[in-house]
Amino acid sequence: SVAVVLFTSDLRLHDNPSLRAALAAADEVIPLFVRDRRIEELGFAVPNRRAFLADCLRDLDAGLRERGGRLVVRSGEVAEEVCRVAAGTGARDVYVAGGVSGHALRREGRLRGALESQGRRLHVHDAVVTAVAPGAVTPAGSGTDHYAVFTPYFRRWSRERIRDPLDAPRTVPVPRDVGSEALPSRAEVSGVSEGLAEGGERAARRRLTAWRRTGLARYEDRHDDLAGDATSRLSPHLHFGTLSPAELVHRARAAGGPGADAFVRQLCWRDFHHQVLAARPSAARTDYRTRHDRWRTGATAAAEIEAWKAGRTGYPVVDAAMRQLRHEGWMHNRGRLLTASFLVKTLYVDWRVGARHFLDLLVDGDIANNQLNWQWVAGTGTDSRPHRVLNPVVQGKRYDPDGGYVRRWVPELRGIEGGAVHEPWRARGRGAERARYDYPEPLVELSEALARFKHARGRD
Ligand code: FAD
Repeated sequence: SVAVVLFTSDLRLHDNPSLRAALAAADEVIPLFVRDRRIEELGFAVPNRRAFLADCLRDLDAGLRERGGRLVVRSGEVAEEVCRVAAGTGARDVYVAGGVSGHALRREGRLRGALESQGRRLHVHDAVVTAVAPGAVTPAGSGTDHYAVFTPYFRRWSRERIRDPLDAPRTVPVPRDVGSEALPSRAEVSGVSEGLAEGGERAARRRLTAWRRTGLARYEDRHDDLAGDATSRLSPHLHFGTLSPAELVHRARAAGGPGADAFVRQLCWRDFHHQVLAARPSAARTDYRTRHDRWRTGATAAAEIEAWKAGRTGYPVVDAAMRQLRHEGWMHNRGRLLTASFLVKTLYVDWRVGARHFLDLLVDGDIANNQLNWQWVAGTGTDSRPHRVLNPVVQGKRYDPDGGYVRRWVPELRGIEGGAVHEPWRARGRGAERARYDYPEPLVELSEALARFKHARGRD
């Protein structure tokens, strides 16, 4: 018999329950990836993620070839393409990882309907995209379908049994006569960030090995150090599923210690946001918690948004992080927090504007993590401290005390030594000295911006 395995956000051979189930049930499998036309229409297929995805597909194909198989790639509407492949090969069963976002859930629904109308079956495997499936744990007795507060979720999540990771299969027999499009390649994509990381399961596993050896034990102490760049950088691999979150939890727990505990907690944040989104798909666009903010719009706000995007706000740590985003398609978590806070609370601009810009560039750009973290920072989401504002100068001095992160990304300020780089307006002096730095004056005065925000938020 023949089965189809539809790869979506699980572009890996290790710990892939759908692939293993298909191989156990059928003599031959068709590993299929459909370049989803709807994702293109939604504007989600931006250059950085298209380039990373191309790496992932090439690497998946190479891994399958080592096992006697290959990857079949098609483009179009997912349900139609899967049905076409199944009909052409006589496959009765299709295996897929359970989706989380509104788009993935609708895709799954359409696929099930289309297959069942042809007498075929869809097998959905949960806890592939997340370590614990959304909806698997719910607050006892509250009558709600998801946790809105992280700490109780984390407590409950920590007691959940996470499936043992599965080995990669040794062989993957694929029928010969199934046609595939040419694999996409990174070189075909224009507008990619210069410092974009390499995609694919092999790159992911190399990164994981290095991280377990040198980063994990020190993660608790160093994860907020902007210049130290001491986080795992596994987020793009988790987004595309070239690494399994369940495997990461197992491996971290096996290593043990405070670094591993802190890392597992972050993986739980990922599951937390996914279970919020699965229960409230509308949180991708609308406020999770309505606050009646009347965000700033108009020409001045538009000019400030452009300065924020370009990394020219005059606040060095904000500008450094925004330039890292453009250059690498990735940004340190502390940078994401403080640049997001700057946009929504200092400039008082709608979180959706910032979330869109992040999604345009982030290689790990993910509806659950991005939209819900933006909402968390904006105080429209699950955060219980909606009035907290991060001061960019204080943040810079605390998380980049020697200023190395700023000097790495804002070369105009390389002449200023140490932590003084966070306040160039003090170091620069007057007149000719000031003109030496081609760097803007602060876009807004922080105390005025804070007063404006407090006044606006005072309304709710
Ligand atoms: P590590 O510190 O090594 O953490 C390990 C993993 O835990 C990460 O890879 C990630 O999968 C998960 N994780 C860590 N922090 C969070 C968090 N706050 N929320 C959810 N998961 C987390 N993450 C994305 O994957 N995609 C996004 O689009 C995204 N947008 C964000 C937008 C804003 C405004 C903020 C504040 C955070 C956003 N994050 C997003 C979360 C976090 O910043 C990144 O996951 C992290 O910086 C990735 O780097 P890392 O892999 O080195 O993380």
